[in-house]
Amino acid sequence: MRYEMLTAIVGTNWGDEGKGRMVDLLSADYDIVCRYQGGNNAGHTVVNDRGKFILNLLPSGILRETTVNVMGPGMVVDIRHLCGEIGRLREAGIEITPAHLKISDRAVICLPYHVLLDGLEEDRLGDAKFGSTRRGIAPVYADKYMKKALRMGELLDPEELEKRLPGIVEWKNLTVEKGYGAEPVDPAVLLAWLHEYGDPLKPYICDVTSFLGEAVKAGKNVMFEAQLGSLRDIDYGIYPYTSSSTTLAAYAPIGAGLPGARLDRVVGIMKAYSSCVGEGAFTCELFGPEGDSLREAGGEYGAATGRPRRVGGFDVVASRYGAAVQGCTEIALTKLDVLAYMEKIPVVTAYEIDGELVHDFPMGSRLERAKPVYEYFEGFGRDISACRSLDELPEAAVRYIRYIEREVGVPVKYVSVGANREDIIVL
Ligand code: GDP
Ligand code: MG
Repeated sequence: MRYEMLTAIVGTNWGDEGKGRMVDLLSADYDIVCRYQGGNNAGHTVVNDRGKFILNLLPSGILRETTVNVMGPGMVVDIRHLCGEIGRLREAGIEITPAHLKISDRAVICLPYHVLLDGLEEDRLGDAKFGSTRRGIAPVYADKYMKKALRMGELLDPEELEKRLPGIVEWKNLTVEKGYGAEPVDPAVLLAWLHEYGDPLKPYICDVTSFLGEAVKAGKNVMFEAQLGSLRDIDYGIYPYTSSSTTLAAYAPIGAGLPGARLDRVVGIMKAYSSCVGEGAFTCELFGPEGDSLREAGGEYGAATGRPRRVGGFDVVASRYGAAVQGCTEIALTKLDVLAYMEKIPVVTAYEIDGELVHDFPMGSRLERAKPVYEYFEGFGRDISACRSLDELPEAAVRYIRYIEREVGVPVKYVSVGANREDIIVL
């Protein structure tokens, strides 16, 4: 069991690699699943014997009865959304109690005015917009670093909260009212909102660091679940079309509440082709009928927003970089079954920038100018979704897996051939 210990499950691309699905599968071996960054701006889809679930804030381990789930200090929590998400899961028969959901007292609260400001700014930018999910994530992380944010633990001390609120709201109205010319925030309305959605969450709020520290001492296995991929990381991603937090594995112990820990395993979730929601450079993008067929075959519509995702072939340049910045020890290759309809499989093997062939992932305007160099691989020739071992896969599929492994430089440990828990090949 020692092998499992502290494991991060992270995305190596632009997100939506199937992290939720892999966490749901692998969480069987873990006692605790932690979310360590982000808020309800992303969606993880999990399909198992209990139904189909879309998780935005809750760790994917919530669907297993014996797993303890932690929402770490690195997260930003829209408490209204969380109450709704918990309610929807309860309606579907999932039990959620303080025994198996723990919310960090240090996690930051995403407030209605963060959501408001996210929308106001995207509208102001017009055509130059960032493609934000408008869930308030950038404004709330900005406030965290401005040290003007409210944290979950403050909900436990209503008197202090009430004292602090007017000062923060006064500061915020400098932007909301005087900056954007919107209706000012009313502290009384905000306080009522905090009670309405904060009070039901009180039993779950705790010091997750001491909980996790004890758990690790007792030999428990902990999984850290990323919410967005490498290329959305605030420092290493396609800035400014990134998220506002650190999505990388190295941050997982810090953001989850176990800051002194070192990871034993980093599983990189890598999709067998590419998809991207929102704006920003996406060099491998396929357009026209080629793109449409791939989008349909892969069901590439956002789990959080329903937006059609941009799609492309597997991108060696981006994926190698994405796996490297995560420090992946192994890869889970997902959605390989989706490629079965293709006669030939498109793969971006290099970028061309200003007439030069490039193999290292560029940044900024060089990335914007990059053109994909596409090569084509032999198609699988048949449906592979029922395959459960490497031997059962067509040779072309095995060659494709080995090619990716070689190019990315990390062993492929899992191949996912369907959305259900059991649609997996372990290598
Ligand atoms: P996440 O954000 O990384 O968790 O990924 P999403 O849930 O946003 O998107 C992945 C989608 O692909 C979901 O609808 C999954 O149910 C589905 N999915 C995951 N793995 C596979 C797979 O191997 N094959 C197929 N066909 N679908 C998959
Ligand atoms: Mg997703």
